[in-house]
Amino acid sequence: MYVGRMFVSSLKFPCLGIGTWKGARLLRQRSFGTSACALKQDDFMKELDKNFVQFHKKLMDSLPTSDWSPFTPIGDLPPERVDVVIVGGGVMGWSIAYWLKQKENRRGALRVVVVERDPTYSRASTVLSAGGIRQQFSRPENIHMSLFSAQFLRNINEHLGVVNEDHIDIQFNPSGYLFLASEEGATVMEENYNVQRECGAQVTLLSPHQLKKKFPWVNTNGVALASYGLENEGWFDPWTLLNAFRRKALSMGVYHCHGEVTDFSTTKREMMTADGDPVTFSRIGHVTVLMPNSLESQNVECALVINAAGAWSSNVAELAGIGIGPSDSLESVKLPVEPKKRYIFVVHCPDGPGLDCPLLIDSSGVYFRREGLGGNYIAGKSPTEEEEPDISNMEVDYDFFQQKVWPLLAHRVPAFESLKAFCL
Ligand SMILES: Cc1cc2nc3c(=O)[nH]c(=O)nc-3n(C[C@H](O)[C@H](O)[C@H](O)COP(=O)(O)OP(=O)(O)OC[C@H]3O[C@@H](n4cnc5c(N)ncnc54)[C@H](O)[C@@H]3O)c2cc1C
Repeated sequence: MYVGRMFVSSLKFPCLGIGTWKGARLLRQRSFGTSACALKQDDFMKELDKNFVQFHKKLMDSLPTSDWSPFTPIGDLPPERVDVVIVGGGVMGWSIAYWLKQKENRRGALRVVVVERDPTYSRASTVLSAGGIRQQFSRPENIHMSLFSAQFLRNINEHLGVVNEDHIDIQFNPSGYLFLASEEGATVMEENYNVQRECGAQVTLLSPHQLKKKFPWVNTNGVALASYGLENEGWFDPWTLLNAFRRKALSMGVYHCHGEVTDFSTTKREMMTADGDPVTFSRIGHVTVLMPNSLESQNVECALVINAAGAWSSNVAELAGIGIGPSDSLESVKLPVEPKKRYIFVVHCPDGPGLDCPLLIDSSGVYFRREGLGGNYIAGKSPTEEEEPDISNMEVDYDFFQQKVWPLLAHRVPAFESLKAFCL
């Protein structure tokens, strides 16, 4: 009754719509999954949702040339109480949300919310990445995870498909990674190769002669050994993968909240170790979420917080006191994650390596791969510590390409001497 009245009042007085609609949503979230009565309320709210959409559409249709909207969009308020709060809605956050729901032993057993502050993902690594998957790592754990991921991506529609929704096409482009080692790095490359083969990865070593035969456009000067992936490597569209995880997790009942996690409330408990030493444990009781374009914050009580804030994970950890404790305490240790800026350059070179171009990683650190079928390539290189760029903006340093990337590219692939960097 109360909920209904609030909604009716919003119909009568659109100017009150923001507050009342938000209130209605809050009530719905509070009522979720508690009893038969709550289920009825849930049906009722679904009906309400439908009416609201129709009402909104009618209002908008009556103003065909105007940008004005009767309701300023508000972020989805988070539920007041959940089991798990995931901070960050990049590929890690949504993947964790999916797996938590996938592994729950009873449908609806876990209430999970993903909090993401930037729905445009303008600075998220996920959508800015090169979207590559490889098996060529030095540690067995990474190789096993990557073998699993390749299998997962191969059958992505079985895992992340949603009934009545579009088929997922991550535009997977199968292609091996080609690592080149100088004399200095050849032994390590061989050791890594042995680990990779033991783990079941299909990788082969190539001598400079074999390398030249397979990829005639490579200048093999300075190359002592090459390692080439034969299976389960390539690249794909990371934006599609992120959305596939997100769509599936939402369909499984994960909540999404557009907002920024700005604080945690913690409680401390004194305990004794087995040796009788006193230790203090901190436990997060609730998470504070700042709603977008607003001064309003919402507290979410939870049992567990997962920090999936990517490059900003250290800042999020600090909100919980990690990295800012007294110098002799464990809490003084910072999470070793910090944002760093990396450039990916798009170049055009009709006479370049062509279709059979792997993702090549040179011993100098420069890398490139084909991008599409029109003679385009993407290329980059991590700067040295001294060259680390300013992270306060997203500007691209064109000189870095001219001075640090291009000469190395042109050395490894002489055809790249005539490339055009048309989109940086
Ligand atoms: C240039 C580049 C190329 C790469 N190429 C590859 C590649 O080829 N293959 C590969 O496997 N990996 C690659 N990576 C790495 C890969 O992109 C990342 O490991 C991965 O995307 C990390 O995902 P994430 O979800 O942890 O982080 P992100 O995608 O950065 O997501 C973190 C999210 O947390 C949100 N957030 C932060 N703080 C808060 C807060 N307080 N409240 C709410 N939300 C918050 C942010 O807005 C962001 O959307 C590349 C990375 C870069 C930068």
